[in-house]
Amino acid sequence: MKQITSTILEAAQRHARAEYPREACGLVVGDSYRPCRNEAADPMQDFEIATQVYLDAEATGDLPAVVHSHPDGPHAPSEVDCRAQAASGLPWVILPLDAECMFQPITFDSHEATP
Ligand SMILES: [Zn+2]
Repeated sequence: MKQITSTILEAAQRHARAEYPREACGLVVGDSYRPCRNEAADPMQDFEIATQVYLDAEATGDLPAVVHSHPDGPHAPSEVDCRAQAASGLPWVILPLDAECMFQPITFDSHEATP
């Protein structure tokens, strides 16, 4: 996968911190982090990026990753995350954080689902 630079990661983590305790979501487009509005019905538990926003990012031809935060854990992808990641065919980055700390980001990318 394309390298997620520390600049991208820091921008994403600032966004995650700003949205806490809601889940923050965003897309890595080219060499920058693009914060997205969380459209989920319950942004404390879930995240959703508007289809058009996603398609616009995809249309650039340079959409290396999908990012979202896990406020107060878990420090692993949920089952829903795994399914959605596989469907997207892109690497996903999860930013676990709590009120005090930002934890090690988790990047996951399943290969078996790619056609
Ligand atoms: Zn998640």
